[in-house]
Amino acid sequence: MTAQTIDGIALSRQIRSEVGLRAAALTAQGRKPGLAVILVGDDPASAVYVRNKVKACEEHGLHSVLEKYDAALAESALLARIAALNADPTIHGILVQMPLPRHIDPQKVIAAIATDKDVDGFSVHSAGALMTGLPGLRPATPYGCMKLIESTGVPIKGRHAVVIGRSNTVGKPMALLLLQAHATVTVCHSATPDLAVHTRAADIVVAAVGRRNTLTAAMVKPGAIVIDVGMNRNDEGRLCGDVDYAGVREVAGWITPVPGGVGPMTITMLLVNTLQAAGATTRAGTAG
Ligand code: NAP
Repeated sequence: MTAQTIDGIALSRQIRSEVGLRAAALTAQGRKPGLAVILVGDDPASAVYVRNKVKACEEHGLHSVLEKYDAALAESALLARIAALNADPTIHGILVQMPLPRHIDPQKVIAAIATDKDVDGFSVHSAGALMTGLPGLRPATPYGCMKLIESTGVPIKGRHAVVIGRSNTVGKPMALLLLQAHATVTVCHSATPDLAVHTRAADIVVAAVGRRNTLTAAMVKPGAIVIDVGMNRNDEGRLCGDVDYAGVREVAGWITPVPGGVGPMTITMLLVNTLQAAGATTRAGTAG
């Protein structure tokens, strides 16, 4: 069996076209959705990420502001900027690109962002809302993974889902979103003794580890949905995920490629979150 590809670029395009329409409608009502992105320091990967986020806003009719600061920026100065953006009516979402320089406490920074502008969904308030099933802004990457799984048309309810990884930004919120969609969820991590025992029993596997070839063909149940969040480099320096794509696609029913799977959906769901923060409802914006 060769798996069907879950095309994150095509799904992104579809959701983004709706984002563009909703953004235009809000703009016509005098409420153009606005995202502020803050970058501290000169990490090259972070610079690419923020550029792509701002570009996506521009392409879909959202207002965006990119603030770049030297790595030596004082924590108090960053907190003061966030306070100003919290009070800025043209800004509906605030994103501080991680990682931050070591002298800045990321938890303090995340906590400083107004709850209704926390478009990354990383605050304790947003995490608590997800945990308790209350409405709120969901972290973009797992939110995008849910849309990718839903796009297969396979019902999530009653399925066994295995999430590999338990980070606060991907693994844990992913597990909670799947649980909210009525999957039976197992969360694996670095201290899980036999990963394959769990993944072989899974109808849905989400790999969010950061180590290539974590999931191989022998670890996958025939027909399973496999979502690859990982971003790694192979021996040739090319981008690859956590999943042995060539092997696993011969066993799985559905699989996301890397690149072209989860990556584009992360930015797309950031746009959806910014619209939601600005007061819009979208068809995409319904994950829990
Ligand atoms: P992270 O914070 O480093 O978390 C990695 C998780 O993997 C941890 O929970 C860790 O377990 C677990 N792990 C490590 N080795 C393992 C093993 N051998 N078996 C099972 N679990 C293992 O990383 P993250 O931020 O969640 O990101 C994960 C990956 O997704 C990275 O490659 C990252 O670049 C990528 N990512 C992609 C996107 C995108 O848009 N495509 C967005 C975010 C992240 P412990 O908790 O026990 O240490």
